[in-house]
Amino acid sequence: MTTIYSARWVLPVSAAAIEDGAVAVEGQRIAGVGPETEIVAKFPAARIESLGEAVILPGLFNTHTHLELTALRGYLEKEETDFFAWLRKLTIARLERMTPDDVRVSATWGACEAVRAGITCVGDASDSGLQSMLALQEVGLRGVVFQESFGPDPRLAQENFEKLKVKVSELREHESELVRAGASPHAPYTVCGPQLELIAELALSEGLSLMMHAAESEAEDLLLREGCGAFAEGLARRSIEWKTPGMSTIQYLKQVGILDTQPLLAHCIRVDDKDIETLRETECAVAHCPKSNAKLGHGRAPFAKFIEGGVLVGLGSDSVASNNTCDILEEARFATLLSRAAGAHISAEGALRAATFGGQLSEGERADLIAVKLTGVHQTPGYDPVATLIFASSGRDVFLTVIDGREVYRDGRVTTVDEDRLRARLKEIAANLHG
Ligand SMILES: [Zn+2]
Repeated sequence: MTTIYSARWVLPVSAAAIEDGAVAVEGQRIAGVGPETEIVAKFPAARIESLGEAVILPGLFNTHTHLELTALRGYLEKEETDFFAWLRKLTIARLERMTPDDVRVSATWGACEAVRAGITCVGDASDSGLQSMLALQEVGLRGVVFQESFGPDPRLAQENFEKLKVKVSELREHESELVRAGASPHAPYTVCGPQLELIAELALSEGLSLMMHAAESEAEDLLLREGCGAFAEGLARRSIEWKTPGMSTIQYLKQVGILDTQPLLAHCIRVDDKDIETLRETECAVAHCPKSNAKLGHGRAPFAKFIEGGVLVGLGSDSVASNNTCDILEEARFATLLSRAAGAHISAEGALRAATFGGQLSEGERADLIAVKLTGVHQTPGYDPVATLIFASSGRDVFLTVIDGREVYRDGRVTTVDEDRLRARLKEIAANLHG
């Protein structure tokens, strides 16, 4: 069965915009992209879905999120000026006040929010990896679930590493065509050097993808370069030994072998030209999270320099505990505007490439595509579909999300789960967290 989606505009991203275009989908793959008249003639037996005054584009890619934390949206506003207290309250809420089912509901609600915003693929870092993986699979979202690993104490490196290995092998048993397992050593200040080395070796020997928070806060930079600041004091209070490497996070991650695994590094705010060159040489990818970074007061990553320097860069929402929405079109607008405010020009096309992170509409590709309406008051008039998309639209204008050929969101409803039941459960979880 072939379905043709046609609309006023089709943006293949890998090629020029097509006015009055269409995309033919056969099973899980794209069978054709071009002007509507050509595609209809090529597939005469196809079912035609005319989407009207809209733009069809590849699905958006959220390169860094924590869907399990969706229940914590707005929960940490008072702690935002103290990152240490913020992390502590978050950890207590997740580990002590949420049941495994709460975490599953939280992640599923987050996956619903993602597909509603046109996100078809996520890089999801999760402490409860299995719950997150099941949530992605239930909603029909594509992605990698990176099982988190913590452990700042070198004396416990081996023990914590063994715990990670058990969780990763459990995740691997539940992998599906759409959802794969990865690992995420949380950050340089929460995972000690020996544990990072063990995880890097595991990733290389097992072909496991890694994601890690890197070069995010000033406290992290102070800990690594000078061995002082809030994180250093926190480690000292717990009598945890810390050998100050005396270098930037990126150079430290190179030293302990993490960069050999071509990881996805979230944030990368505190990087200099040498670090950017290192990221390019080692073929690491960056998950740029402009809204989370701004909200927590961490600063701004050099998005334009990454692009100019040949570093692969995508956009991430981070968790909604620090954002407060999972919306990659919004991240694209913020990333572009923040860069321009600092004097670096990012085009709407450049922002779209980051938002789709290598995704494209072309024959033979997996059928991950979305449709965004162009009829909103805030979008009218529009003269260029890419500019309207990046500067005047948000995830709330998405009305169709197709992943692997399957419509998972259409006209206001996620088709794969009972959103009303989830909403009721989420209210219970929030009441419990608040009480
Ligand atoms: Zn994060």
